[in-house]
Amino acid sequence: IITPVQVPTAFDGTDQCMLMTFHDLTPLRRVEEMRVDFVANASHELRTPLAALSGFIDTLQGPARDDAKARERFLGIMQAQATRMARLIDDLLSLSRVELSVHVRPDTQIDLAPLIKQVADGLEPLAKERQVAIEIELPEAPAVIAGDREELLRVFENLIENALKYGASGGRVAVSVGSVPSSDGGVEYRVAVRDFGPGISPEHLPRLTERFYRVDVGDSRSQGGTGLGLSLVKHIVNRHRGRLLIESVMKNGATFTVCFPPEKPRVRTEN
Ligand code: ADP
Repeated sequence: IITPVQVPTAFDGTDQCMLMTFHDLTPLRRVEEMRVDFVANASHELRTPLAALSGFIDTLQGPARDDAKARERFLGIMQAQATRMARLIDDLLSLSRVELSVHVRPDTQIDLAPLIKQVADGLEPLAKERQVAIEIELPEAPAVIAGDREELLRVFENLIENALKYGASGGRVAVSVGSVPSSDGGVEYRVAVRDFGPGISPEHLPRLTERFYRVDVGDSRSQGGTGLGLSLVKHIVNRHRGRLLIESVMKNGATFTVCFPPEKPRVRTEN
């Protein structure tokens, strides 16, 4: 806040002016608190699998040294913990990369329909394992947006994978790509990922995109989750100047919709 204060005319006849500047430090302090929380959370998340690894190494060097069966089992668990750490580090790196480039809007022309198809095909083994059918509804015309292919793949992989993991009991996941005309003559594309599982209770909805936020930490860990997926999704969607909408009805699943801003129609020159 800058407040100029006019004081009475000085003896030499000139106006004196005093300038007082106040800085509200609340947002800066909040950013600093978030940074400290983030480092604490990240360290804690990395420490958990590390502690497990270290415990199993001790056991393998001690009591289980000559027990081939136990060794086999423990090595399997250690492998899973190492994979978990690698995934966490990957997600942290992706998040910081996206955060750094958030002001640059990606500009490759990308057709959403084949991209969604590619993600769904890649997740078919998980869908089979969870006995969930992925139903896809795509438009006939191309649904082209300006974007970053790798980042968009991450967005839809995360959303469809979550639907398969947390909404598996619904038996199916519906993914649709639709469009709505915008007032400036362009088209806004929307991709919705819907599951029919238990849903998410309303108090969690506003916090789901916070880093490391999970409705049920044990459930997320057992599914191989890191709590960073939706945070990454939100950052990528922001970088694309889009919006992420989350809706849920308890016992009737959750819908995650990504809306991409309309591309301005190309200006055509008359002959
Ligand atoms: P995670 O790595 O734990 O999956 P995310 O950031 O992707 O992290 O999701 C955060 C949390 O949101 C999850 O741990 C889960 O509790 C909840 N969640 C996400 N998607 C769904 C869904 N489709 N149905 C129910 N809960 C969900």
